[in-house]
Amino acid sequence: MFRSAKPRLKSGPQTVLSRHGLKNLRNLRNLRIETMKPAGIYIHIPFCRSRCSYCDFATGLYESALAERYVTSVVSEITSWREVDQPETVDTIYFGGGTPSLLSPAQLELLLNAVQRRFEVLTNAEVTMEMNPGTVTPEALAAFRELGINRASFGAQTFDDRELARLGRSHSSDDTRRTYSLLRDAGFDNVSFDLIAGLPGQTLNGWTRNLTEAFALQPQHLSFYLLEVHEGTPLATHIKTGLQPEPDEDLAAEMYRAMLESAARAGYQHYEISNLCLPGFESRHNTKYWTGAPYYGFGCSAHSFDGESRRWANERDLGKYVALVEQNESPIVEDRRLTEDDRRAEAMFLGMRMMVGVKTSEFKELFGVDLRAEHADDLRNFQQAGLIEFDGDLLKLTRAGALLSNEVFAAFV
Ligand code: SF4
Repeated sequence: MFRSAKPRLKSGPQTVLSRHGLKNLRNLRNLRIETMKPAGIYIHIPFCRSRCSYCDFATGLYESALAERYVTSVVSEITSWREVDQPETVDTIYFGGGTPSLLSPAQLELLLNAVQRRFEVLTNAEVTMEMNPGTVTPEALAAFRELGINRASFGAQTFDDRELARLGRSHSSDDTRRTYSLLRDAGFDNVSFDLIAGLPGQTLNGWTRNLTEAFALQPQHLSFYLLEVHEGTPLATHIKTGLQPEPDEDLAAEMYRAMLESAARAGYQHYEISNLCLPGFESRHNTKYWTGAPYYGFGCSAHSFDGESRRWANERDLGKYVALVEQNESPIVEDRRLTEDDRRAEAMFLGMRMMVGVKTSEFKELFGVDLRAEHADDLRNFQQAGLIEFDGDLLKLTRAGALLSNEVFAAFV
């Protein structure tokens, strides 16, 4: 369904140059051409079957009439999108939410067709859809496959039914196993699980059972989150009123270590702070967020980055977003130009999320900064504390550093 690749060079203004960078203009040009990466498309689907107790995402309950209006608005946003003169080719599309699997195949087709009309989508594009257990039928899955959706990101969260109930999830662990088996039957051979650790009342044993169950199913990819308690959510109230215990940070750290050990035994690679995969199954879309590739977001609350120096974001509120688009107004409510300092800080703290690390020579070429010299004291302290290591040209987090990454990143911001 997707067109084939055509190499294309970006025209328009050069990347912002530092005073150090000016003398390397030719190098930078070459580097820019060599490192131009295809873009990703993100489409936000803000509907769920019920509201989980910990959720603060831009999402609400599914209503068919509103979903219909919303899809029409997103198609219209994509069709009239002119934020970048010559957007790069697209090699990933990601339906996130919310629960995109609540949309009908016909609605998803409208969205995919709009993307294909507006962008040059490569034939081997990774097309991901987030799904929640119990929200899909074999017929719907077959139709999704037919549309070219070739990766499922699956909100398993935990295999403990009591924990699922406490989180207000609308599914049971049996739903998870059943839906996973339906996905396999439908030919999805690239499936990612989301798991959450550090749940109130969760024990290390309980978490280990979760891991055993998850790895036994052998998903190609696993995303791991530590529970965050957001103000204003029912979970925050439950904790404040003593209905549920406070999450235990030390225990969550133990869980993280246990997960990395089980994952390594099961043949998974830890490629990003919160992500693991079987060899070759890194999330191509999410990797764009950490490596400075462009991505363009559509729908309410969607964020975009031009791959150089501009970030922008859409209206978060679903009703206001639809109203803006229906009145032919731009849904963009935040628009920010990055300074060179911003870009340098981002390149560090996003790049170091990847366990492969940051190439110090490339960093110097791009920003004119010798990290070893400029951050000598911090780097020595982190190295002595076992949080970072150098592997030749690469500066990377250790496993202990991955757990304390925010402290490491703060030194570079
Ligand atoms: S399924 Fe996900 S997006 Fe929907 S309410 Fe639950 S946590 Fe939020």
